[in-house]
Amino acid sequence: MASNSLEVGSLKVRVLGDGTFLTDAGNLFGEGAKKARIRGAMNVVLVESGDALVLLDAGFGPELPEYLVGRFELKREENLMDRLEQAGYDASDVTHVVLSHLDVDHVGWALNPPSFPNATVYVQEAALEEGRKMEKGDGRREAVPAVENGVYEGWCELLEGDGEVVEGVRVEVRSGHSEGHQIVWIESGGDAALYTADLAPAKIWLDPNLISGVDTDPEAARKNRTEVLTEAEERDAPVILYHEPSEDFLVRVRKTEEGFEGVAWGE
Ligand SMILES: [Zn+2]
Repeated sequence: MASNSLEVGSLKVRVLGDGTFLTDAGNLFGEGAKKARIRGAMNVVLVESGDALVLLDAGFGPELPEYLVGRFELKREENLMDRLEQAGYDASDVTHVVLSHLDVDHVGWALNPPSFPNATVYVQEAALEEGRKMEKGDGRREAVPAVENGVYEGWCELLEGDGEVVEGVRVEVRSGHSEGHQIVWIESGGDAALYTADLAPAKIWLDPNLISGVDTDPEAARKNRTEVLTEAEERDAPVILYHEPSEDFLVRVRKTEEGFEGVAWGE
């Protein structure tokens, strides 16, 4: 069984769940997909760096938004807040929340409603721009008012490209799944771990050629996925898979003939 915590140099990294969702394959792979139900987890990452307590993405939030009822089903016995408490923390202890992008299954507790009273929420400006152009009823569009409000009230900060949010937590823009999609390198003392968010959200997505109906720019996604996973293998960095529904959400990636494979970390 995979562990749900690891040390990266002096940083402590934990994977906290926000339950799982069920949806039709068509919602993830496009109209032509088989009529199958797909399950995905929300493996939110918590990084302790000195006095900073950083969340990478923020699950679905307290409940499924109304516009998704019928398309998604949430299954949870425990949510992110329960898991945070089990790790010994309160919502008010969180100091930074990095949102990889504005899809509804990533921004929940950070935006709807904002549940971390002492945290700054980091969003790429390009992600906000993209959200403004989406149709009503799209999660990225639905997140725009909350982000704009957060910027106005001072608890949301817009990023323009790559940079270090706190010591050891470095964001890198790797678009494809969405515009301004950011991944996170967790780095300390020569060690590294990688949070891929929706660039490679589960083990099946380690195949760079898997073209998804939900990637805004599939070619960019393929190129970025290959580059980032190659770097993770070279650095021997564990990769944290946000939507992996099995216990193998913490994997070591290895190049294969078809692409990459993920092996449970520690095996
Ligand atoms: Zn997602």
